[in-house]
Amino acid sequence: MATKPKAKATQKSVKGKKWVYLFDEVRAAEKHTGSWEGVRGLLGGKGAGLFDMTRAGVPVPPGFTVTTEACNGFRKTGSFPAGMWSQATAAMKVVEKRTGKKFGDASNPLLVSCRSGAKFSMPGMMNTILNIGLNDEVVEGLSKLTNNPRFAWDSYRRLIEMFGATVFNLDDEIFEHPLAEHKAKRGYKVDTDMTAEAWKELVSEFKKAFKQHVGFDFPQDVYKQLEFATKAVFESWNGKRAIDYRRATAISDDLGTAVNIVTMVFGNMGDDSGTGVAFTRDPSTGDKKMLGEYLLNAQGEDVVAGIRNADPIENLVKNMPKAYKQFMDITRKLEKHYRDMQDVEFTIERGKLWMLQTRNGKRTAKSTVKIAVDMAKEKLIAKEEAVLRITPETVDALLHPQFDESAMKKAETDGTFFAKGVNASPGAAVGQVYFDADTTEKMTKENKQDTIMVRPFTKPDDVHGMIASQGVLTSEGGATSHAAVVARQFGIPCVVGASAIKIDLEKRQMTVGDVTVNEGDWISVDGNTGKVFIGKIPTSAPSLEEQTDLLTLLNWADEICARKGIRSTPKGGPTRGLQVWANADYPKDARRARSYGAVGIGLCRTEHMFFEPERLPIVQRMILSGDSEGRTVALSELLPFQRKDFDGLFEAMDGYPVIIRLIDPPLHEFMPDEEKLLEEVITMRVKNESEGLKEKENLLDAIRGMHESNPMMGMRGVRLSISMPEIVEMQVRAIFEAAADCTLRGIVVKPEVMIPLTGTVKELEWIQPRLERIAAAVMDEKKVKFEYKFGTMIEIPRAAVTASEVAQRAEFFSFGTNDLTQMTYGYSRDDAERNFLVTYQEQGILEKNPFQTIDRGGVGKLMEWAIAEGRKTRPTLEVGICGEHGGDPDSIEWCHIIGNNYVSCSPFRVPIARLAAAHSALKYAGKKIAEDK
Ligand code: PEP
Ligand code: MG
Repeated sequence: MATKPKAKATQKSVKGKKWVYLFDEVRAAEKHTGSWEGVRGLLGGKGAGLFDMTRAGVPVPPGFTVTTEACNGFRKTGSFPAGMWSQATAAMKVVEKRTGKKFGDASNPLLVSCRSGAKFSMPGMMNTILNIGLNDEVVEGLSKLTNNPRFAWDSYRRLIEMFGATVFNLDDEIFEHPLAEHKAKRGYKVDTDMTAEAWKELVSEFKKAFKQHVGFDFPQDVYKQLEFATKAVFESWNGKRAIDYRRATAISDDLGTAVNIVTMVFGNMGDDSGTGVAFTRDPSTGDKKMLGEYLLNAQGEDVVAGIRNADPIENLVKNMPKAYKQFMDITRKLEKHYRDMQDVEFTIERGKLWMLQTRNGKRTAKSTVKIAVDMAKEKLIAKEEAVLRITPETVDALLHPQFDESAMKKAETDGTFFAKGVNASPGAAVGQVYFDADTTEKMTKENKQDTIMVRPFTKPDDVHGMIASQGVLTSEGGATSHAAVVARQFGIPCVVGASAIKIDLEKRQMTVGDVTVNEGDWISVDGNTGKVFIGKIPTSAPSLEEQTDLLTLLNWADEICARKGIRSTPKGGPTRGLQVWANADYPKDARRARSYGAVGIGLCRTEHMFFEPERLPIVQRMILSGDSEGRTVALSELLPFQRKDFDGLFEAMDGYPVIIRLIDPPLHEFMPDEEKLLEEVITMRVKNESEGLKEKENLLDAIRGMHESNPMMGMRGVRLSISMPEIVEMQVRAIFEAAADCTLRGIVVKPEVMIPLTGTVKELEWIQPRLERIAAAVMDEKKVKFEYKFGTMIEIPRAAVTASEVAQRAEFFSFGTNDLTQMTYGYSRDDAERNFLVTYQEQGILEKNPFQTIDRGGVGKLMEWAIAEGRKTRPTLEVGICGEHGGDPDSIEWCHIIGNNYVSCSPFRVPIARLAAAHSALKYAGKKIAEDK
């Protein structure tokens, strides 16, 4: 039974806007939208794939697509846009003609599926309804026609079930319960045991249940079925699942979904039928080998649901050699056509192969890199495209510390598995559990513990605890909850919504079943899988050397950056294109940086070395000695230590520049904590302990004497060097003695001495000549010569503004964007992140965290000005960045644009920065950037 559609049989006769496209109308869609991207937007990714396959002569079941524009019209008014439905029914007539079948005709029935498909794949997030066109009459006809009543009744019950669940949101249980009862009554174990009679009986129960819950009979009018289904797919765009997914993946709410109406083909028509899914390459390893599975005599969802054990795709050659060969030929062509790994769905109906879907397959980070590199080697894509296909996040995922695979497996079998939630932010975290933000922060900062903050959910005033912790775990919330968003923003491993966990904030414990974790206990949180374990699982940072594909890709990235003409950097600059250097204080960090591809050290913070246990007492003695003479004596003891430090760095970076920054922090940082010392003094006085009391009292007086109201803006950096030049004089002597010794050992050294926190060129004029004299003296003493530079950090806005003057002395600039951001905004970083940064971002006052990504409009403008002005004075001025922004892809792009020579970042971020630099180079290739400004 079918209502006669009023529309005429061809599409051409329908006037007005085109809402419906037959699969072979791809040219019309291209004409309407002007591009393939536009076609994907109009017809959705799945639709575009079906159109493209139809054009390429791939066997696709006939059908048509209702556009995303129609969906958006429907969402505005709640009804189909004018003309849409008549176009759809007219398209059905064409499909009937092409298949030789008729919709709703029991003697030769056409069945269709109604599938969602948005521009960007949202797997499983929206609705699909199969077997539309079956009713009480058609099912009988189909039984006779196919001589397979079991198949016909099974298909009918699937339709009623899916219809109920997706169109009317009925609980699955309404249908699952009677099915389970039926099977139990007859002693059946699996669905395939069900006979035709059994399915038929179940259909009548399903229909009763449908009426009971929906209020009217299951529609027998097949066009009504199609109308309901189409509306349900449109509506599923605004379903909770779909909205959550869009939030998490930043897909716009305005796109809407298309609806694909596709002739049903059946893989469950006997043993000459089957269905399957496959990837043209292994999505987990990237190996060039088809990976898929199929089931004989089954429908698509049986494979996905895993009701029966599927066979590996290569076995299909035995069952159906002809279809298998055709399948392999088609998938090879599809991969070549799309120049990417394809994820395909197919059905074989009585020996005939039909392709139902093709799309670029989702894959792991490892496989993403391997496939891109292999495809470039196969000349399927260019090297540049391979580089562009890899995101910085992919590289990050490959190099992030991860749980040891075998330890993880062992933990699973050992019974230390605790709970599973949503994998909200990647990475492995091991720490001691604390149940509130203040304690987490305290334990981390004061007790130097590794911590995991556990809360039912988080709020803005928990952020300081989250930032301090190694990882975050919540029992509530999803991928877009506050905890998830903040954790991703700050790169903290995070699992949210582990609902099995019951948190008792009063008892300060959490439980799953009879397992309890108390405050202070160790747990391991895996942000990649969402799993939480009790105890410590070892982590390791993967080595780059073993990742040969990533190495190849990064070498291509470097080659792209260094290409002639890739960037119009000012003439005479010291590097061609943007290079990646690293921040490293110790030789072992420098070695790691070099192995990750760094071609220089952009920042060695020398003061870190002063904190080593055997040196700190000497440093304190130096600070406490009231005069230059006393300081010089103590410093002479430090000199051999520093010389050794620098020697190791030069050796590790043989042939590459090494920038060593002279002492920067205020001296009180090297002294004992004032409050603790006061406590000790008071206790000794109360207990009348005289031994050592006088020394402690003197020390306390000295520390009090060093007190500053705002030490970060006080006696530090070059100001300290001018007040006490002996410290930096010792440091420069150590640098040049080490460099000379290395040179004598055949190592190529390129030391660059960096003066921090300059605000006026006069500071450089005061200090730099003294230091240069020491450099010259050491080279004379040692009778060696090597390249070296003296330069400065640009961390104070005044230095940036007066860069043309600063460059009269400085041979290089390095942007210290941590301080430059603090001082440009007037925010103290710690206070901002703790108190108001998240609110500012939530309120849209700040779009991004300026301490992570360079604020192009303010800090970035200062940098741009400083480079341009600095190079007016000194055209060969070397310019880099060594603030944390040096490892951030967006900031790296800015450095490319304004003509930096290098970015310097933590060794672990070097590979990411190499890739980001190449992306910037490709994005702006040929564009005149620096010169145009
Ligand atoms: C900076 O300010 O960006 C910088 C690198 O120096 P520090 O972080 O050591 O202050
Ligand atoms: Mg600084």
